[in-house]
Amino acid sequence: MNFKDYIRDIPDFPKPGIIFKDITPLLATPKVFKEVIDTMADKVKDSDFDTIIVPEARGFLFGSALAYKLGKKLVPVRKPGKLPYDIVEVSYSLEYGETRIQMHKDALSKGEKVLIVDDVLATGGTIKAIETLVKKLDAEVSGILCLIELSFLNPREKLSNIKVDSILIY
Ligand code: AMP
Repeated sequence: MNFKDYIRDIPDFPKPGIIFKDITPLLATPKVFKEVIDTMADKVKDSDFDTIIVPEARGFLFGSALAYKLGKKLVPVRKPGKLPYDIVEVSYSLEYGETRIQMHKDALSKGEKVLIVDDVLATGGTIKAIETLVKKLDAEVSGILCLIELSFLNPREKLSNIKVDSILIY
């Protein structure tokens, strides 16, 4: 089964020049989604982590299925204004302008080891920002797992201190 057959390229979305990797065909094909989650679980079966952290919104889809399968704690990272309790936050730059992401301040304990899971690793900016959030709570990123890595954007340059695993490389 070739997972890439279930990922659709949408040119110029959400803005000109971006080729958006649309994972909805994969999600809509149960045997493929199951195989993807099993493959992701297999990649990290020997890794040492307590908790899976997932950025809004597509990270939730893969990270929650993985947390269920592996029996791990799950922590969401969200856009501003979504989390109801006290938060820690970090600002980071996107291609155009700045954005912020937030996590509950009691989401992680000191020394907790976390795996960051997302659908697409592009520039690595989002995951770098999540690493900053994790460090604010004195926890530790033990790895990154993404379904898709856009290697031509060199995300690993930004994340050279962390183990990065991806299932599909473009
Ligand atoms: P980055 O911070 O540049 O690594 O971007 C990562 C975030 O943006 C991920 O949460 C992705 O879901 C989303 N993203 C970036 N580029 C793409 C793309 N070409 N197709 C789909 N999602 C993308």
